[in-house]
Amino acid sequence: MNATYDVIVVGARIAGATLAWELSRIGLRTLLLDRADFPSDTLSTHNVYANTLSKFREMGVLDELLATGTPLYNRAHVNFEGAVIDGRFPPVDGIDGCLCVKRKYIDDILFRHARSQPDVTAITGFRATGLLRDADGTVTGVTGVSREGQVQSFSAGLVVGADGRRSSVREWAGAERRLSVPTDYASYVAYVDGYDQGGERFVEFYKQGDKLAIAFPTSDSQYVIGFMFPLTDAARIARLRDEPESGLRALAEEGLSATALPARLRSASFAGRVRALLGYDNDWHQGMGRGWALIGDAFSFKDPAVGQGMHDAVFGAGLLAKTLSGYRPEDWRRAWEEMSARYEEGMRDKLMSRFEIGCQMTRNAPMPQELLAAYRLIGKDEQATRVFLGMYNYASEPGDIDREVGRLLAGIQAPGA
Ligand SMILES: Cc1cc2nc3c(=O)[nH]c(=O)nc-3n(C[C@H](O)[C@H](O)[C@H](O)COP(=O)(O)OP(=O)(O)OC[C@H]3O[C@@H](n4cnc5c(N)ncnc54)[C@H](O)[C@@H]3O)c2cc1C
Repeated sequence: MNATYDVIVVGARIAGATLAWELSRIGLRTLLLDRADFPSDTLSTHNVYANTLSKFREMGVLDELLATGTPLYNRAHVNFEGAVIDGRFPPVDGIDGCLCVKRKYIDDILFRHARSQPDVTAITGFRATGLLRDADGTVTGVTGVSREGQVQSFSAGLVVGADGRRSSVREWAGAERRLSVPTDYASYVAYVDGYDQGGERFVEFYKQGDKLAIAFPTSDSQYVIGFMFPLTDAARIARLRDEPESGLRALAEEGLSATALPARLRSASFAGRVRALLGYDNDWHQGMGRGWALIGDAFSFKDPAVGQGMHDAVFGAGLLAKTLSGYRPEDWRRAWEEMSARYEEGMRDKLMSRFEIGCQMTRNAPMPQELLAAYRLIGKDEQATRVFLGMYNYASEPGDIDREVGRLLAGIQAPGA
């Protein structure tokens, strides 16, 4: 046994590094572990909205994120089946923008920031291989292997799985899977140079039939483009395996022909490798048990089309730290049920509405005509557009959009009223 901590965090990207920072603020001795080294990449389109940027400002990393040269932008162009909503995101905490920093930069910045905090010890190149438990089954630590092949164990009052979508900590802890909706879509991510939007940079969201695409302005003057089409399209998946670049161009030309994407791609060049995610579940797990907890994708993975995973990782880290701060570490053993009820309720209250939207978007089903009619109405009204886009950065809630649509409908029924 090497050392004892209050908390061990397995996984040191956005969820784990943010949690280590939060735990340092409340004076908990924390061991932050990752099998990876930083800087390093991971699959994502990595866009965050103003609400998450506000948190990054509080953490003291926003300036370093902006110093990567990644452009802040605040306009969105949405085209769902020809219903166009084009406008500006509402500000949150005085921040008027969105940022899409490549993971090789953002995870490294967050990791270095966490590692520099008091009471945080960080080890990379260490793969956790199992949990330690005491006689009554409570988790008491982690065992694993260093890059040099040395087996080491560390003990703590709490082990947190921040180890991603296919979390091992979750599996070892035996966390219950509370909800699971498999996706109908295959997802592909590509970086491009020379994607010309004709001036101002903005995000594009497209849905045409059974194809979806998102384009975000990102670091290194590039755009990151996410493409989605049905998993049942085996011929397209085979083509993309053999000819990723021409396959994605063909997908845009054939499947997203009514949008601006194919023309913009024609003048752009692909940079680096196209990456795929062939199938995933939108899932929601038990968040805490005796001696363990889960945050980030380990707790809940949601369809990338809603672009909320990184926000949820940051929010979950804050909520878990807040939950723990209500108890002294020596009291945790008698308070698991109470703490886990608080933590899970907080996660549900904040995140479930977007998780449910993700579960709808993950199904390959036509958008209802009433919904498209509502989007057309919203697209014609600046206030309604801001409220709609505020869903992405939590400036508004689904009920606010319903009220906006009600207002617009009332205006149609009683013109001039
Ligand atoms: C195609 C795609 C597009 C996306 N686009 C967006 C987007 O635009 N915006 C957004 O907000 N979200 C997006 N997401 C979701 C977002 O990427 C995730 O929510 C986010 O990465 C979760 O962060 P995390 O820290 O929980 O996990 P991860 O980023 O997966 O990090 C987990 C870490 O745990 C480490 N680890 C795993 N197992 C072990 C072990 N046994 N021992 C030690 N270390 C271990 C790994 O090395 C890794 O570094 C997207 C996801 C995908 C797949």
